[in-house]
This record gives sequence, C-alpha cells and structure tokens, in this order.
Amino acid sequence: MDSNGERNFYRTLGAAMRREFGCNVWKVSVDAGFSCPNVYVDGGGKICGGCIFCNIDSFSPSRRLVAGEPVLAQIDAGIIQLKRRYPKAQKFIAYFQPSTNTNAPPERLKTIYNEALQHPEVVGLSIGTRPDVLPEAALDVLTKISAEKYLQLEIGLQSIHQKSLDFLNRGHDYAVFVDAFERVRRRNIRIGVHLILGIPNESRDDIIATAAEMARLQPDSIKLHNLCVVRGTRLADYWQNDKVQLLTLEEYAEVAVDFLERIPQNVVIERIASEAAEDYIIAPTWSKIKHAARNKINNIFINRKSCQGKFVSDRN
Ligand code: SF4
Repeated sequence: MDSNGERNFYRTLGAAMRREFGCNVWKVSVDAGFSCPNVYVDGGGKICGGCIFCNIDSFSPSRRLVAGEPVLAQIDAGIIQLKRRYPKAQKFIAYFQPSTNTNAPPERLKTIYNEALQHPEVVGLSIGTRPDVLPEAALDVLTKISAEKYLQLEIGLQSIHQKSLDFLNRGHDYAVFVDAFERVRRRNIRIGVHLILGIPNESRDDIIATAAEMARLQPDSIKLHNLCVVRGTRLADYWQNDKVQLLTLEEYAEVAVDFLERIPQNVVIERIASEAAEDYIIAPTWSKIKHAARNKINNIFINRKSCQGKFVSDRN
C-alpha cells in the first residue's frame, strides 16, 4: 500500500523515499544550463541532431520558467510549487533534469552540485545524463558527493536494441551503456535507467529482451516511458506524415506489465509512463490523462493476479 492506501503492484519511488528518509521526499527539477553533445548547431545557426523525441523545453516547467536563474533560486521556486500541489512533500531531491547534466569540466560540476546541496530542504541529488558523458573525472566528483549524500545518476538508454537506438538517433550503442553502467556501479553510485516501450519495429520479444537485460544488470531504479510525440521534435514530423504508429493505452499497459513481471522486486519503478508537459504533447492523447497508464496497468496486474518480478527466478 502507498501513503494514500492504494495497493501497489510494483515498487514505487514514494515508498522507496519514505524508507530511505523516513518522510515524503519529492524531486525538484533544476536546469543548470548544461548542453547535450547529441545536439549541435550547423553553420547556418540551425539546431541539429538530438534524439528524435526530445524537446528539452518539454521536460519540466524548470526550463521554461526559471532557466538562467541561479540554482538555489530555482530550487526555492520549485519547492513552493511542489508544496502547493503536494502538501505532504517534506524534503527534496534536486533533480538536474533537462539536457546532459555531467557535460562540463569537473570543477564546474562540483560547484553546481554543491550549490544545490546547500539548500536546507535538499537531502540529495538526482542527475540526468547520457551513458557516453560519464568520464572518470566526472565520476570522481560524483563519488565524493555520494559518500556523504543521497546521489542517483539517471542514465538514458531507451532500448538495448541497435535498430531502436538508430531510429531514435541516440548517438551511442548498447555497449557504451553497459560500460558506463559497470563503471558507475563499481563506485557504489545509485543508477536509474530510462527506457521507452513502444518504439516502432520493436516486438514484444524485443521488449522482453530489454527487461531480461535490466533483470541481469539490476539498476536501482527504472523510469518507463511510452513513446510520446511532443511539439518541436523530429518525431512530431514523422507523426504528422504518418510515419510512426504509437501504442494504444491498452497495448502500452500490456507490454508494461509484461516488462515489469520480469524485473526484480528490489528495483524501484520511478515512473510508469511518459510525463511531458501537457501543452507539449501531440500524441498519444491518453498521455494527457493523469494516471491513465497507472490505472490501466494496475487493472492488468489484478486480472493477471500478478506483480513486479512474477517471472524473476530466485537466481536474480
Ligand atoms: S533526450 Fe537527452 S540525450 Fe537525447 S537529445 Fe535530449 S537531452 Fe540530448
């Protein structure tokens, strides 16, 4: 059961945070102005590259409302908003969310991360990044912080399959992810992995293969996303030209449950479906309905008499 008395069929972030800190902890989004190496500006000043689904502005209100503000001011503003929406929120994790938040020299990383940790209501950091932007010098900075504070690295992967990484224009392969994962794990830093279910041309077997790999690696947490078309992306162009098909809510919920049944119960499921800002979402329309995916997934778990980890063998 969660704090609202609802039954959980998978390990939620809220429950994991309460166990860790003994109170309700929320992530407050911060935009420290990092760039992404997968995005570049051509000779004519046009922004090129990037993942086809990515519009950094859609990640969170932070980039749209307070980008350019000092980190502490962003945290103050974010906490005020979160407390208004979630009066039970007591402490906060500073979540460096948009773009690639290890993409800077180590001294700059240290300064920015430590600035966030100075906030009296911040109990730790969560840092979103790419697997190919985790040099040892950045990991040295993170290891020091991790020895004293809660620290989680959120690494974007999306799929283990090369055809999907190519389609999404990720700009790295799966081997790069595994290398980064193992180097971060050796340093005892918590790892969250971002994945997309419903990438065109991925079969149910492909999705189950991704689940099997996650069961083998056992990250500390996983964020699941449905493929979501947001304004201002290449995916939006494909969608408007009928070049991609998205999963229906029912299809997504079925494969999400297939996936979760193969993930060990100690792995926290931080997110169960995409959460782009509503005014940015073009499709699927069900992505705009709060808790639609969660409710559908819970119903499937009930009907199957199942839960996260149902098919995980004792060896995991
Ligand atoms: S999703 Fe992440 S890695 Fe991909 S373009 Fe956006 S910021 Fe860069």
